[in-house]
Amino acid sequence: MKMQLQKPRGTRDILPEEQKYWRFIEDIVDKRCGAFGFGKIETPIMENKELYAKGIGQATDIVEKEMYSVKRFSSETANEDDDKSELVLRPEYTAGIVRAYLEDGMQSWPQPIKLYSFGPIFRYDRPQKGRFRQFWQFNTEVIGDSSPLTDALLILLVWQIFQDLGLKNQIVVEINSLGCKSCRNKIKKQIIDYYKKYKNALCLDCQRRLDTNPFRLLDCKELNCQKIAAGSPQIIDNLCSECKKQFMQVLEYLDELGITYDLNPRLVRGLDYYTRTTFEVRDINDKNRQSSLGGGGRYDNLVEIYGGRPTPAIGFAGGIERIIDKLKELEIDVGSPKVAEIYIIQIGEKAKRMALRLISDLGSKGFSISSAFGKDTLKSQLRTASKNKARIALIIGQREALDKSVIVRDMMEASQETVDLKDLETLLIKKLRSS
Ligand code: AMP
Repeated sequence: MKMQLQKPRGTRDILPEEQKYWRFIEDIVDKRCGAFGFGKIETPIMENKELYAKGIGQATDIVEKEMYSVKRFSSETANEDDDKSELVLRPEYTAGIVRAYLEDGMQSWPQPIKLYSFGPIFRYDRPQKGRFRQFWQFNTEVIGDSSPLTDALLILLVWQIFQDLGLKNQIVVEINSLGCKSCRNKIKKQIIDYYKKYKNALCLDCQRRLDTNPFRLLDCKELNCQKIAAGSPQIIDNLCSECKKQFMQVLEYLDELGITYDLNPRLVRGLDYYTRTTFEVRDINDKNRQSSLGGGGRYDNLVEIYGGRPTPAIGFAGGIERIIDKLKELEIDVGSPKVAEIYIIQIGEKAKRMALRLISDLGSKGFSISSAFGKDTLKSQLRTASKNKARIALIIGQREALDKSVIVRDMMEASQETVDLKDLETLLIKKLRSS
């Protein structure tokens, strides 16, 4: 049988010419998070399945149907202890970060702990534009602080990241509060009572949500369900006085910071762990609320659910592929792809050896160099140098290899000169670094 050379559905290859977008975003995230005192954390791509079931909620889409399990293949009977746990590919960042917060003793560090990450996430989703099965997120978390100022700080960080990306005028921040545990229980009951009357008119998913995850009824994308949601009791009208005060303060701080937002009383987010402030970043043109650029919120109970001391926290995750789509659509300058500035051309065996040494020497001095050792003629190598957009070609023939010299060709000016090997670095610095 012929081997299938196809990437899994819903995944993508990120080719060299695409990398400039990724570098652009990651540099901005690094810079802004660093400026706000966030430290970088990388957690494993695979974690125990229970971590998500316990934290995100058994009845959520992610836990019910979107996780990929990871299995070890072995012909021997697996009888080691650690083989018994069921591993999955991470379907989101927060649960793993909170696990690390507890496991790595961060609870005893000075609070709050501010962390950020940049990496791939896996969900079994129906692939379409902006929706993949492996996609990337930048993720930010502040653990150990309940102040509304922290909510404002995190939203400010996200806002400034989008500003640096050149997307500030393209986005809207939608915001809502889901209240604390007791507000949630009270509102949940009201929502169920209201929706029961319309049960038969709801889509099948919503009929199920009525029993399993009633908050999700409010943000169903089906037109009929949206009409019903319009008359539903609003979370925000039913917050306890503490939650109401907290939310009003967040909004005041955002006003002071000049961050524009839309109140969206039906913004619930999909996961069980969210409490109080929740927010999403949307494209202003996405009127039907089909796909967000990022989302986050408070999760004040999650650390406790995992067995830690009660610890308030808030986080946000932005979707890299969707941001890249936007950068492309608006033709935002993300810089040029990194190309090798020098191309080494060699003719003959001795020259090949010298070229190899030069690649090593110049590379360790910070120059970027490319070559094609499989090509032997001057013409074909010059053509490749030009296609690769190299600024300088270094040509080494038999004579140069014997003389310990090299021909330095300026590809833009089409001029060239022969220099001694010992003078090469100085000349390259002059040509490449002085402009
Ligand atoms: P969530 O973790 O669901 O709050 O998602 C945060 C962000 O990740 C979203 O706003 C999207 O930008 C991005 N995202 C979520 N799911 C996908 C997906 N299947 N494919 C691509 N991006 C996604």
